[in-house]
Amino acid sequence: MYPAAFDYVAPRTVDETLAILADRGEDVKILAGGQSLIPLMKLRLAMPKKLVDINRVPGLDTVGVADGHLTVGALTRHNDMVHSEVVAAENHTMAAAAPWISDPLVRNLGTVGGSLAHSDPQGDWGSVMLACGAEMVARTTRGQRTIPVGEFFVDLFTSALEPDELLTEIHVPRYQGPAGGTYLKLERKVGDYATVGVAVHLQLDAGRQRIEQAGIALTAVGPKNIKAVDAEQALVGQVPGDDLFAEAAELAAAAAEPRTDVRGSADYKRSVVSTFVRRGLSRAAEQAGRA
Ligand SMILES: Cc1cc2nc3c(=O)[nH]c(=O)nc-3n(C[C@H](O)[C@H](O)[C@H](O)COP(=O)(O)OP(=O)(O)OC[C@H]3O[C@@H](n4cnc5c(N)ncnc54)[C@H](O)[C@@H]3O)c2cc1C
Repeated sequence: MYPAAFDYVAPRTVDETLAILADRGEDVKILAGGQSLIPLMKLRLAMPKKLVDINRVPGLDTVGVADGHLTVGALTRHNDMVHSEVVAAENHTMAAAAPWISDPLVRNLGTVGGSLAHSDPQGDWGSVMLACGAEMVARTTRGQRTIPVGEFFVDLFTSALEPDELLTEIHVPRYQGPAGGTYLKLERKVGDYATVGVAVHLQLDAGRQRIEQAGIALTAVGPKNIKAVDAEQALVGQVPGDDLFAEAAELAAAAAEPRTDVRGSADYKRSVVSTFVRRGLSRAAEQAGRA
């Protein structure tokens, strides 16, 4: 099916983009990689009056380190995350997740910011950002605000972004001590959305004795990406070990809200969450230097 008719504009600066968004509000949609928006428009589930294509706006696709953060521009392609030396050196969870996003075609076009703004509970980056405690930086003509990731995912396909807000970058805290993390994903075939995904982040104290920070988040087992808060809290201050990880895995499974569908039964998905959390925590502890 063809999309409904729409106007198209391709601004060259962030300020120009923000002015267009301010002018047209809810009638406008930002076009990034188009990997989610275009299919929705073809199905006429989205019928924006105007598309603002941000692909020609410079400066939105850089990955770097600044002020204690790993900074990821919203327009950074999934594939650039796969090949980023900065990501590989800085964050185990992000580096592990990037190659799991869909297939090479989607990875070449789709963007990290587009994925987060789309707020699909099957989106892999959402869980990574929840586990790592990221912050979203958004701009309008009125100014800039920073949204903690815990407040960013509001509901199914609904983020905290206002219609006139441009997500410009994502800040992920740098490790402050020995740390590890990973992303585990079960998919029916290569390139598919997750049946279940689990993002894990662990940081130990300087002596590698106890857990200082824990992040666990779940993909595709609820109406939005889920932060397994009880599981995280059970880990903090404790000595890493198999029994502790098994306890956290059960708490994370209890936080999941899976539904039975073509990808598997709710019970099966819950059991995969538990297995992945246990496995992910062991791997993260090992990376942090605590086998
Ligand atoms: C076949 C297929 C398989 C896929 N598999 C996976 C998968 O396994 N895992 C996964 O995580 N994803 C998967 N995806 C989704 C993919 O990751 C998309 O790239 C992503 O969902 C949207 O990013 P985009 O850049 O294409 O955004 P677009 O489609 O351009 O936009 C999506 C939404 O975000 C808004 N938006 C985009 N950028 C901004 C911004 N900077 N500020 C504010 N709003 C913005 C748009 O207005 C729109 O509402 C798949 C997609 C396809 C087509």
